[in-house]
Amino acid sequence: MEAAQTETPLAEQDESETAAHSPAAPSLRVGIGYDVHRLVPDRLLVLGGVRIPHAQGLSGHSDADVLLHAIIDALLGAAALPDIGRQFPADDPQFEGADSLQLLDNVLKLLTERHWRIVNIDSTILAQGPRLASFIPAMQAAIARTLGIEAMNVGIKATTTEGLDAIGAGRGIAAHAVALLMHDPSLQDCACIPPR
Ligand SMILES: [Zn+2]
Repeated sequence: MEAAQTETPLAEQDESETAAHSPAAPSLRVGIGYDVHRLVPDRLLVLGGVRIPHAQGLSGHSDADVLLHAIIDALLGAAALPDIGRQFPADDPQFEGADSLQLLDNVLKLLTERHWRIVNIDSTILAQGPRLASFIPAMQAAIARTLGIEAMNVGIKATTTEGLDAIGAGRGIAAHAVALLMHDPSLQDCACIPPR
């Protein structure tokens, strides 16, 4: 009885705690993304928006660009937005065979609307083959152009898994990505590429 009279009701307590300890909105946010797709015959191989000559391509509803999908999830994650599967559902016919650079452009619009500027991206492609080193500058250029940032802010590395797993057996390609966003209240106009 005494306790009930002296204690602050729980709901009020929570509210005052929140107001007293509410941190300022963070100006920098990091995000992480991962994706994997199977390699199958009779598909084009597209990585980082670049067509790569190869006997097989990645299966998927869109163009299955595994690198761009990992980068998209890193960007969405940094802004705490719903992931790629919820932004671009695999059962939605409008995304069938979709160019993932266009999906990336859509993500840029979502970020820009929320005043998030992309500081940099880093990524690693895991593939037993083909050799990707010579295609990386073109991937960096395609991604940088789409996002309106400098190619020097788009890191892309490629490695094998030394034949140790399904990737190493050539059954698929995976990609990891991280992205750093900076909150910029002055950001209003979308520097997006025109629709193709
Ligand atoms: Zn994917």
